[in-house]
Amino acid sequence: MRVVLLQLPIQGHDFFFSRENIPLAAAYLKTIGVQEGIEVELVPRSLMSYGSDQAILRFLLDARPDMVGMSCYLWNVDRSLFLARQLKCQLPECTIVLGGPEMTLDNEYVLRSQGFDIGVIGEGESVWRTLLQSYPHVPEVPGLLSRGEDGRLYSAGKDRLRHGTLEHWPSPFLSGALDPHLDGVLWLETVRGCVHRCAYCYYHKQSPTLRSFPLDRILEEIRRALGRGLKEIVFLDPCFTKRPGLEVLLDRLGTINADGRLHFSAECNVEDIDPAMAKRMGKAGFTDLEVGLQSIKASTLRRVHRRFRPERFLNGVRSLQENGVKVMVDIIAGLPGDTLPDIRRSIDWVVEHEAYDFLMLYPLSLLPATELRQRAQELGLGAMPHPPYLVTRGPGLSAREISAAFHYYEECMEEDISPLETPPGLGGRSEGSTFPEGLRHTLRWHTPEQVKRLSPYRERTAYALTVSMAGEVLRQPSLWVPVLKDYLNSSPFSLLSAEVPPGVFPESLEPLWQLARERRHPTDFDYTVTHTPYRSFLVFSRSRGLLWKWPDPRESDRMVLSDGQEVSFHPVCLVAAPQKKLPPWFRDHIAERYPSPPEIRIWEPPDDRP
Ligand code: SF4
Repeated sequence: MRVVLLQLPIQGHDFFFSRENIPLAAAYLKTIGVQEGIEVELVPRSLMSYGSDQAILRFLLDARPDMVGMSCYLWNVDRSLFLARQLKCQLPECTIVLGGPEMTLDNEYVLRSQGFDIGVIGEGESVWRTLLQSYPHVPEVPGLLSRGEDGRLYSAGKDRLRHGTLEHWPSPFLSGALDPHLDGVLWLETVRGCVHRCAYCYYHKQSPTLRSFPLDRILEEIRRALGRGLKEIVFLDPCFTKRPGLEVLLDRLGTINADGRLHFSAECNVEDIDPAMAKRMGKAGFTDLEVGLQSIKASTLRRVHRRFRPERFLNGVRSLQENGVKVMVDIIAGLPGDTLPDIRRSIDWVVEHEAYDFLMLYPLSLLPATELRQRAQELGLGAMPHPPYLVTRGPGLSAREISAAFHYYEECMEEDISPLETPPGLGGRSEGSTFPEGLRHTLRWHTPEQVKRLSPYRERTAYALTVSMAGEVLRQPSLWVPVLKDYLNSSPFSLLSAEVPPGVFPESLEPLWQLARERRHPTDFDYTVTHTPYRSFLVFSRSRGLLWKWPDPRESDRMVLSDGQEVSFHPVCLVAAPQKKLPPWFRDHIAERYPSPPEIRIWEPPDDRP
């Protein structure tokens, strides 16, 4: 029996999150497979985290596995379902298993989808072991969904899945299962479960009690990471300050990391931190902590089962900062009961009290199986019916106002909240040695002869592709439109960018925009992005040290959300310029080309920011 596992990354034109796509869940399952004497492999890192849909599909087809398992999250579920359908068509005998937070009993979006055979709900290790042991028979156990004869998914077990202790599960780090996927950073769980009950979260519902991995194992994992030259350890514990035995762990970390070579980061409730704890964290090697404030309004926080004690919050932040730990504060836009002025007040409070090193505003998602989703109607919440399930209205809050909250954040912080990524072919942060060999991220079409059909090598492309076109090629759309169409049809989750000559006029870009209009990519659903929500398809030019994104004509139209609300954008030309200074010729260059020129905005690609 042969099993292949994968977890698809968050997509971006610069592949930044590909580096952070650590298939931790898949690695746990691999180690269990090895214990059972079954051949289990993870899709190689370059393909899993960088490959196009067709590149990954080719690998899976060639592997001819008996079973394929995928971890589905908010950001990859559509693409995972697409791959599952393709694989099922071409390899019908292969059993396809989907797991991860998207697999819940109330997630109709996933449950309605065809193309997979089995769903694993919640923590998967024990179900996985049973499944492997009974394959090809599908066991009737809690936590497992299988298809009945009518093709619908049924919960096989009657009882709720009960989680056992964690020491049975082998470490994917100590076994080496994750080594090929690590790139300077180790992502580590020391506990599972959460003591908090935030109404927008599902994690605590599937894992309500705290269970710890053995301390000796955690320390061994950290020593191994240090020995292998890793520099950063991110603790994945949902609330690090609530883990049992925190002080002992911190003291032991401090001993192992006496020379400060490792940097630790985690998420926690900052109100738990007193000066002594902050000192311990600084001494251990913590450099960054992310803390959820979410809102400062008491009635809103009560609704989502959280609280805020300003004095304790400020004391926690100050103590951490005094010990060299930077604090990132999170606020959520769209919580039930928060109006636009309330969201502004939360931002203002953090800024006025200087209670942060980094401040972030996130849109609320109504995640499957969460209390907020289950009570959405009663609470007056509306959300997209598909991933990323962004909230589009609350009581006293419209989509336009949620979008305005992000504009307000930008005014206060004087920065772009979701800066556009630069593709590696145009100088982005994955250029050069960090990009895996064997996959193409850039095609140069400098002569009509170079415009070949992409199909012979579409299985060797990365999920984000830049096509650099000469004017002579751009002027012959009949030559290249069918090629790109064919490519996007076969790899519909590709991100595409085109580099065109700087002197083009907008009319000549129309065939590119037409291609863009024909697509529906999950990256384009975020109506809270302040400059352009259309990020799956970009057109760039470069000249005299500047790199700019041409305005997408769709930015002039209103975006109609699933509940009929409309959100307005306006055409924006983003320009990356040295020292953030725009030379006068550029304004003239753009003004010559548009009867009413777009906004020209200085663009700081994420890698250029401090
Ligand atoms: S603290 Fe985090 S993991 Fe725990 S319930 Fe709240 S959001 Fe969920």
